[in-house]
Amino acid sequence: MLQKPKVVIIGAGFAGLNAAKGLKNTLVDILMIDQNNYHTFQPLLYQVATAGLEPADIAKQVRHIFKQQKNFRFRQGTVVNVDWDKKYILLRDATNISFDYLIIAAGAIYNDFGVTGVKEHAIYLKSLADAANLRSHILQQFELASAKPELIDTGILNFVIVGAGPTGVEMAGALMELFSHALKNDYPELDLSRAKVIMLEASPNVLNPYSSKSRSYSEHVLRKRGVDLRLNTTVKKVNADSVELDNGEIIASKSLIWAAGVRAHPLVEALALGLTHGFRIKLTKAMNIANKAYVYALGDIAGVEDKDGKLYPQVATVAIQQGKHAAKQIKKQIKGLAVTDFNYFDKGNMAIIGRNAGVAELSKNLSGIHLRGFLAWLAWLFIHLIYLPGHQNRFIALANWTYNYFSYDRHVRLISFMQKSSEREAASPNKNQKSSIKA
Ligand SMILES: Cc1cc2nc3c(=O)[nH]c(=O)nc-3n(C[C@H](O)[C@H](O)[C@H](O)COP(=O)(O)OP(=O)(O)OC[C@H]3O[C@@H](n4cnc5c(N)ncnc54)[C@H](O)[C@@H]3O)c2cc1C
Repeated sequence: MLQKPKVVIIGAGFAGLNAAKGLKNTLVDILMIDQNNYHTFQPLLYQVATAGLEPADIAKQVRHIFKQQKNFRFRQGTVVNVDWDKKYILLRDATNISFDYLIIAAGAIYNDFGVTGVKEHAIYLKSLADAANLRSHILQQFELASAKPELIDTGILNFVIVGAGPTGVEMAGALMELFSHALKNDYPELDLSRAKVIMLEASPNVLNPYSSKSRSYSEHVLRKRGVDLRLNTTVKKVNADSVELDNGEIIASKSLIWAAGVRAHPLVEALALGLTHGFRIKLTKAMNIANKAYVYALGDIAGVEDKDGKLYPQVATVAIQQGKHAAKQIKKQIKGLAVTDFNYFDKGNMAIIGRNAGVAELSKNLSGIHLRGFLAWLAWLFIHLIYLPGHQNRFIALANWTYNYFSYDRHVRLISFMQKSSEREAASPNKNQKSSIKA
């Protein structure tokens, strides 16, 4: 009997999941590898960081997602390299896994743009552990301020957000809400007007890809809700307890949240493939690699150009469509057919700035309608509920949002730090295991 082609997918993010789903009922064996045994719904990480949702509410176990898909298998592990001659990938525990087709969908990390001190002192929001730890860090500052109020003069309640894209704006709005309601009740002994959210943005606008009306609306709402928004402001250096700006000002803060942009996952540096802007893997318009047609890269790690020669934005909607596209191309290749170019169907952009305030811009493909305010906020909640994986997660998120909306509460106010996957692996007794198993 002929062996089925083996498709290995690195990463259980939006791109990887959709590639695997697209290969359902296809005569292939799929093996998905991820450092975590779950998929993280990153657009809601900021809700975990601001005590609105639990980490488990925005994640789903990969094996559970694919429990009905017979040609799917999962393996938890960290990919560190690929041997292109022998066609196998190498895991950190020294396991080799062979493949016929490879899909690289390992996502992105935050880009520090070479700013001194960011790597050492900034807080990122990319993983469940980042979000849970940020929540704990924020709450910890309030506990410290309560125990020693004189620390407030040293900036302990100054929270600096760098980058006024959707992540920064959503985080800033949610933090102001957390401070002015839930934490105000928790800490009656503190003057909560001294808790500040300072938002720094290098460009003259918030939410840059949006229309000027949406941008000025968002700017107005942020300021009205108390965010100290500073446009045309660049960070020069980050220290453990302060942030130095290009204009010479020094802001005292132990809490700098870096949301200034991403770059492709560092795995790309080990792979010896051609790279393009933002360290993304250079691809053909069909999303595979020019001299390795059996290798695809998708999502945030993929450097594919649109018809105007620009790279696609690093957002979930692009990753989802690229996942589906790669699955279709692999099916064609198995049948000996030619692959076709990837074409993104742009549905638009949306972001929320907190309670009852959002911006939603449908693309021209879908009427071009722009919404601001309550309706945009409602549309955002609805879309995120639809895309959140798992009925149970949707139900819990909806219940929590309803409760938080009417009670002004944020119920997950626990200080409990979480171990990151890199720390977990460093502590693992198997990390230097030398065995080599052909899967
Ligand atoms: C805070 C935040 C908010 C966002 N909000 C929005 C939004 O509102 N709308 C929107 O469209 N987009 C949003 N995005 C962007 C969106 O989440 C990404 O574009 C999307 O997740 C990219 O999908 P991906 O599959 O390429 O990578 P990811 O979803 O990042 O998945 C990559 C996977 O690869 C795994 N992995 C990485 N390295 C390895 C390795 N070496 N070995 C094994 N596994 C590995 C990771 O564990 C992860 O599961 C947001 C992102 C962030 C961080």
